[in-house]
Amino acid sequence: MAYRRLTHETSRLLKKKLPAAFTVRVRSAQKLDPQYQALCSLEGSGKQRYFLIRISKRLSDEQARDALIHEYAHAVSWGHLHDQQEDHPWHDDVWGVNYARVYRVANEDEEDSFHEK
Ligand SMILES: [Zn+2]
Repeated sequence: MAYRRLTHETSRLLKKKLPAAFTVRVRSAQKLDPQYQALCSLEGSGKQRYFLIRISKRLSDEQARDALIHEYAHAVSWGHLHDQQEDHPWHDDVWGVNYARVYRVANEDEEDSFHEK
């Protein structure tokens, strides 16, 4: 299940710097419903639970990386509200704050060099 290098590098960086409560697995998806660029879900049960991020193969490398950043924010935001309420909004405030954190970490190198004195 090889996936793109750019996405792979970002995924490694995020897992290292912003670990989620669950193992996060990123896959390149051949047969994703065309209306979605990427999807995420919590799979397995008990201690075997893992967060699965599927990114459509139709996306460009840049789009795939953006999709990963969006979905990874879901991975770090996932909590009891998602588990207990079927209709809990996906893009709530917690997700928004985490999206900003994930975005910063993913683009850290560029920001560092930009602010270097
Ligand atoms: Zn989302």
